[in-house]
Formats: sequence, structure tokens, C-alpha cells
Amino acid sequence: MPLKKFNQILSRWRQLPKRHRRVLFSLVVIVIVALCWSPSSNLSGEVNLPHGEQADSSSDDFVSNSPEMKPASDAQVPDSEYTIVSGDTLGGIFAKLGLSQTQMRNILESDQTQALDTLNPGDKLRFWRDQNNLTRFQVYFNPGYYVDFNLLEDGSYDSKVIRLEGVWKQRVVSGEIKGSLYLSARKLGLTPAQIEQIGQMFKDKINFSRELRSGDPFKVVIEDQFVKGQSTGENNLLAVQIINQGRHFNAFLFDNGKYYDEKGQSLTRAFLRYPTKRHYRISSPFNLHRRHPVTGRIMPHYGTDFACPVGTKIMATGDGVVTRVIRHPYAGLYIVIRHGSTYITRYLHLSKSYVHRGQPVKRGQVIALSGSTGRVTGPHLHYEFRINNRPVNPMSAKIPMAAAVSRKDMPEFKKNVEKLLAVMAKS
Ligand SMILES: [Zn+2]
Repeated sequence: MPLKKFNQILSRWRQLPKRHRRVLFSLVVIVIVALCWSPSSNLSGEVNLPHGEQADSSSDDFVSNSPEMKPASDAQVPDSEYTIVSGDTLGGIFAKLGLSQTQMRNILESDQTQALDTLNPGDKLRFWRDQNNLTRFQVYFNPGYYVDFNLLEDGSYDSKVIRLEGVWKQRVVSGEIKGSLYLSARKLGLTPAQIEQIGQMFKDKINFSRELRSGDPFKVVIEDQFVKGQSTGENNLLAVQIINQGRHFNAFLFDNGKYYDEKGQSLTRAFLRYPTKRHYRISSPFNLHRRHPVTGRIMPHYGTDFACPVGTKIMATGDGVVTRVIRHPYAGLYIVIRHGSTYITRYLHLSKSYVHRGQPVKRGQVIALSGSTGRVTGPHLHYEFRINNRPVNPMSAKIPMAAAVSRKDMPEFKKNVEKLLAVMAKS
């Protein structure tokens, strides 16, 4: 406000009677307060928007640097939109809409044309036109992913891929097995792709067709992507829990895109190298040409002997099912575990077994105490590993080893698991 005018107003204000001045002043205060509170000031509303939503509204307003293009305000609603159907060609669509093949070629000569190769029925093409000029063209996959082509002065097109993060919203799907996992999960709205993914996650843990029982509960935490309140169709399975006859099977997605159980161990078939927590001295290695220490005859040694004291806790080295708990004159008390169709592990000379035949066991589960039963020269554990029933050296054989979340990432992983377990427990 110019200083002169301000002085004029001030002198007039001074000429007013004191009573009038007071009333006017209160009115001004009321107007100011009302303005601050009114939604048109919109400060609070915008600040409360989720971060992602706010970010994409600005990037979505396509403002071109080139002067010949339409202003952004016009740019939001296309002049026409075309939904791809099976058998469509870009040339055909352009012809149908009365657009020249030259314009199509110019678009195909721009940088970001890979998107056109991934077009599928249901995807959309959007057109902005200025008479016969195609000023903007958009390949639209979903509200969070599209590619913009903008006409430049020389007739070529500038192109860019737009990816909007939006917001990811979590939901929990929970139910019980009735019939197959597939049917039960379909009924709850999971897609065939998601069910296939769950099957893959647990393929080395549960035999879905044989082991699942009617009434086994399961829960799935899904996050869906929304951009400006619209679903993009993108989603992630964050956590899956299946309780099969009392056994808990969990899978949690980590940053690296892989799934782990609640302890951060990989879900794929995997073994521990050692059946004991401590690594004991090897008193007799795997050796197919060994002279037997008691009989003196050449007898292959099909396992690794660990010099562990009687009463050492023995762990199953992989997930599996106990197929044998038996006493034998030479092997003493021993346990055999079958791990899927390929692998077998055997644990000999035990003093005590904690498992019984037919019992499912998990990797790392304590199954027995070591001993010196059978024909032995001293207390030890004889540990055998068989691939397709052929004994291999358990210490050096190519065995799928258990992979875990790295020690560095573990705190973050555990925090995430706690959150997801709480989410599942609530629903
Ligand atoms: Zn042995």
C-alpha cells in the first residue's frame, strides 16, 4: 500500500469519534479471526494430507517448460480416451481417431516408448488435441503409473514416465481352511496370483494338499497402493500366517523383497551345517574307505562323528518328519528324519529321544540328547546326511544352507515383525 494512502486512512481514522473507532476495530478483529478459521485458508487441511498424496499432486500437474504447449489447467482432462482391446494396434487406433501416422511415428521416436510394448487389454490411451495436432498423448496403466508424451515445436515428442508413490494402506484378510487353501483364500477375495505366491512361500514348509486340515486358521496382511484415493491395483503381501494343526507358519516380507519366518530365517528348504549349537571336535570324519576302529575291517564311515559329551542337546538340522526312533545293537538309540523327498538325516548313539515316529520337526528343534549307546569306543554323535539316500559328507556336501536376515538388518526386521504380528492378532 502506498505510504500516502496509508497516511490518509490513518488521519481519517483519527477524526472518527472514539465510540465509532472501537466498533470498527472490533469488526476488523472479527473479520481477521474469521478469515484465519475459514477452510479457504486451507492450511491445516493440506498439512494433514499423507506425504505421498501431497507429493504426487504436484508432480501430476504436468507443467511444461515449452511455451507452445497447452497450459497445465487444460491438461488434466483428455479430449479423448481409448481402452485397449485384444487385437488393437497403435496404427489402427490412431487411424480410427483421425490422427496422422506421422504423429504416431514421432511418438514412437521419443525416448520412453518401452511402455508401449507392455500395453495390455484394459490399459488406456489418452489424447489431448488442438485441432489435428496431438499436443499430448498418455499411456495410462493406473493412477500411479503412466507415460506422458508432449508435443514440441519441431513436431517431435518429449516423453517421461510418471510413477506416483501415493499411499499404501494395510488390511488383514483372515479365515479358515475349508477345502483347499486356494478355494478358502479365493472366497476371502485373494487373487489367484496372491494365492500362488503364498503357495511358493511355504512350499518347503507345508504340504498343502496333504497336511492342511479343515479349520486351520490363516491370516494375510496385504498393502494396497492408492493414488489420490484410487486403487492402482498394485499390492504386496506383507505377512502370511498359517496355523496347521497347532504349528505356526509365518512369512514376513523384508526390504530385500524376500520372505523370512518370525526369527528372520529363510523359508526355503535349508539346513544347519551342525546338529549341535556348539561345534564339537570331529573325532571321525566322513570316509568311504575307513578302517573300522573296533573290528579293524575296511568299512565306510557314512557320517561325521562329533566328540560331544553325553547329554548334549541334538537339533534337527532341517524341517522334516521323524520316520524312525529305534534301538539298534550297533547304532544304539537313533533317529531318522526325512526332509521332503530328497534329503534324510540320521542321528546315532543317542541317550534320549524327545520325538516319536511321524512327528513333524522344525530346523533347530531339539530332538534328542547325545550318548554312547550301541557299538562305540566313547560318547559321540554320529550324524549322517543323505541325498537321494546316498550318504554325503555332512561337513562339505552342497546342501541348501539356511539364510537369515543379516545381523545388521535384524533389529529393523524384528521391529517390523512385531508390528505385523500385532496387526494380525487384532483381527
Ligand atoms: Zn560314526
